[in-house]
Amino acid sequence: EIFGSMVFNEAVMKAKMPKDVYKSLARTIDKGQALDPAIAEIVAAAMKEWAVEKGATHFSHWFQPMTGVTAEKHDSFISPVGGGSVIMEFSGKELVRGEPDASSFPSGGLRATFEARGYTAWDPTSYAFIKDNTLYIPTAFCSYSGEALDQKTPLLRSMEALNRQAMRILALFDGEEYVSLVSPSVGAEQEYFLITREMYEKRPDLRDCGRTLFGARPPKGQEMDDHYFGAIKPRVLEFMADLDEELWKLGVPAKTEHNEAAPAQHELAPIFATSNIATDHNQLMMDRMKVVARRHGLACLLHEKPFKGVNGSGKHNNWGLTTNKGTNLLEPGDSPSTNARFILFLLAVIKGVDEYQDLLRLSAASAGNDHRLGGNEAPPAIISIFIGDELTAALEDLESGIAHNDKKESRIKIGTAVLPVLPKDTTDRNRTSPIAFTGNKFEFRMVGSAMSISEANVVLNTIVAEELRQFADALEGAEDLPAAMSRLVHDTLQNHKRIIFNGNNYTEEWVKEAERRGLLNLKTTVDAAGAYLNEKNIELFERHEVYSRTELTARYDIVMEHYAKTLNIEALTLIDMIKKEILPGSLAFQKALADTIRSKREAAADIGLEPEMTMLTTVSDLCRELFARLNVLEEAAEEGRAVTDITERGEYYRDHVATGLENVREVIDALEIIEPKKFWPYPTYEEILYSV
Ligand code: ADP
Ligand code: MG
Repeated sequence: EIFGSMVFNEAVMKAKMPKDVYKSLARTIDKGQALDPAIAEIVAAAMKEWAVEKGATHFSHWFQPMTGVTAEKHDSFISPVGGGSVIMEFSGKELVRGEPDASSFPSGGLRATFEARGYTAWDPTSYAFIKDNTLYIPTAFCSYSGEALDQKTPLLRSMEALNRQAMRILALFDGEEYVSLVSPSVGAEQEYFLITREMYEKRPDLRDCGRTLFGARPPKGQEMDDHYFGAIKPRVLEFMADLDEELWKLGVPAKTEHNEAAPAQHELAPIFATSNIATDHNQLMMDRMKVVARRHGLACLLHEKPFKGVNGSGKHNNWGLTTNKGTNLLEPGDSPSTNARFILFLLAVIKGVDEYQDLLRLSAASAGNDHRLGGNEAPPAIISIFIGDELTAALEDLESGIAHNDKKESRIKIGTAVLPVLPKDTTDRNRTSPIAFTGNKFEFRMVGSAMSISEANVVLNTIVAEELRQFADALEGAEDLPAAMSRLVHDTLQNHKRIIFNGNNYTEEWVKEAERRGLLNLKTTVDAAGAYLNEKNIELFERHEVYSRTELTARYDIVMEHYAKTLNIEALTLIDMIKKEILPGSLAFQKALADTIRSKREAAADIGLEPEMTMLTTVSDLCRELFARLNVLEEAAEEGRAVTDITERGEYYRDHVATGLENVREVIDALEIIEPKKFWPYPTYEEILYSV
């Protein structure tokens, strides 16, 4: 009974609302039809009644500004009725629209140039829920002139675009008359680290930047592979049980929990939902992970690379396409027509991924994720797609018009081309590919663990919509449909098979091979950000009404701005830690060594002093080097802040501050190894990673 107990779901709606109102709302939720404004008042009253019964005193529009996390503004239900009394009230107007004073959310200049304020608008397709005695209403956040200021609006738009084009494709096939909605389904597996609160509090870099800015490799890392799927520690199990319960109450179907590759690393996978709801669920998941961890005396690290040299965290965005009749459109079929349909959807993804590599890369770009992608433990920054050897062979046969399977009866004819029997469940798994076909869905593995999955899905939905549009254009008017279809399959494969790679993406050979194939290798966020300004991409988004040119320019600014700010905070944090603790600690160590040397000399003039002299020289040299590199970093950060052009600023931080941070940490890590514990001010990786 726990599951969904705090969610205003369809069962509650049914119970609390008149039948016709429920039906009208259900049409909006299930079929994406516009909301009938007349019912808002009744829905609001029902929501309030239910929420008050559950102990809620406040309500909040819940939205997702372009910070990657969620925002909320609480109002209480109380409304004065005179004579010092109040009643609990919640109007249709309050449900449908809110006006947070949101002038300091990032807008990339959108709001400054148009309106001072934005508004939030109820998203009836995502259920309201109660958390911390507050009724949360999922909303989109826009400016008054209609520009999206958030991560939900473009996602909803991209779902619409995808539905429009997918329906055109389905109309080409018999037997799909009853389908009225195609929606992308998403299940986002979330990786995270758990450490003790005590260790977390002792590291200002973890507190302020989410990652450690230095730390020598622990003597024992993950080389024994003993943590992956290993027995879960009791304290972690308690955390997971508590987390599951919290999430279930909120209707988030947390399903599997296990240990990940690195020490202290874990993963939580939910059951999939439509991409809009899955995005909301993932935000709730991240929020509850932090809250529940604190309750257990732990800290949950969502950063993509909290520890250098230790596996980073990502989010595997499983993406599928489902009709409202429950058909999975990415599932190979067993009849000629379902197989042809599958091939079209599969090819739309392959072609889209090839043509919009830059957008996919950008959708997973952040300063944090730059440390992970290409780190030989996560997908490289190069986009490619894995479909398995069997399916690749089948497609290749299709391209050359040769049947893969010799058995005559199993051949499926589409015009001149012969469609082979498709492997139904490819058991081969590739863990290194950025995008892998896993039998009936795609797994996009590049998204960072701290990021919203929204942008990745905006891009996936939109690029597939575009390819389906092109396919529908080519097929709808065709006189000989089977012939047109085989031409399209042939051409698409020929032009886009370069994006298919089934080998090991972690190798140096792949980097070279990808270059030979002409695939992009956008190494950092700054290199990827330009994709928002690329005319081909602007045309794509404008055509499908997902982003306007203005919105894209704004997003470019925000990505660059966020990158520069992140690195600036990291630089300042590291500088502070060095000056306040690391240098003073090292100087004290040197003094102790010098004192020892002096007193030993006094005691016996010709006594051997090799160990202390060597140690003193080494520490002294490292300190001098640290001091020099610290000054370089300090100057770089200062200069970076002064660069006014946003592109130049991003590039400056990439070229000078990112490298400055690395240069400094190199010396700190060397110091950490030789300094005695009592002079070293911060917990080491060993202490942090094995703290729970
Ligand atoms: P795998 O064995 O490929 O990792 P799982 O069944 O463990 O597959 O699922 C991994 C994630 O993918 C889960 O979050 C699951 O809900 C999600 N998932 C499964 N099927 C689909 C689908 N059709 N569309 C989107 N996500 C899906
Ligand atoms: Mg998986």
